[in-house]
Amino acid sequence: MSQQQYALEKLQKIQTRIREAALSSGRRADSIRLVGACKKQNPQRVAAFVEAGLTDLGENYLQEGIAKQAALSAIRPHDQASATRKTSWHFIGQIQSNKTKLIAQYFSWVHGVDRLKIAARLAAHNPHSHPIKLLIQLNLDHEESKGGVLPAAAAELADQISQQLSSTDNETGGAQLHGFMAIPMAKDSEREQCATFAIARELLETSNQRYGLQLSELSMGMSGDLAAAIAEGATMVRIGTDLFGART
Ligand SMILES: *Cc1c(COP(=O)(O)O)cnc(C)c1O
Repeated sequence: MSQQQYALEKLQKIQTRIREAALSSGRRADSIRLVGACKKQNPQRVAAFVEAGLTDLGENYLQEGIAKQAALSAIRPHDQASATRKTSWHFIGQIQSNKTKLIAQYFSWVHGVDRLKIAARLAAHNPHSHPIKLLIQLNLDHEESKGGVLPAAAAELADQISQQLSSTDNETGGAQLHGFMAIPMAKDSEREQCATFAIARELLETSNQRYGLQLSELSMGMSGDLAAAIAEGATMVRIGTDLFGART
């Protein structure tokens, strides 16, 4: 099978899973954005997916992401439509505060914000005229080893970040907070997956009601828990293995 055919089939398969999960929870499939989590994937393969119609790519590691963006822009697509379509890059890894300048330069979305300082630095360093879009990472399972803010502190941090971002005048586009992101622990059943994702959905509602925010994005759901995440309101799913195949 050619790379092209492989990409088309895999992409359609995931889109079907997204559509079915959306339908069974009474949602529109086009309210869910597919982000291809392409860490440790070969750029040629990723390029084939972009040509097949994938518009959003997520990367965990800054240097790998920058290298992949360069590699992809050097690969000449076969058809005109994909040559003119723009790819949105999402930074989905852990953020070190000394890397905010490069992250702001190379990524449109940043999913792993967990401190006011990181949000402020991304806004200040954004060299583009459009706001960089931020999501606060939630630590839903209270895992010591993982980044993210605990549920009890999430709404208040959302309010602090929103206030800070809207009150600071940046020379360029600054940043805007759009919602939450979560990477829960693996669970034994879809029921347990749903119970965890529901916490994120409730936190979004609480933040909006309590602080008058207008957060609308929930980045949650990976290869193993995509359906549960969509049932609980995911607006972005980040899929690696089930889209691109096993990582190298
Ligand atoms: C790798 C990764 C994914 C995708 O995981 P798969 O299980 O391969 O679908 C999603 N989100 C983050 C933050 C990741 O690091």
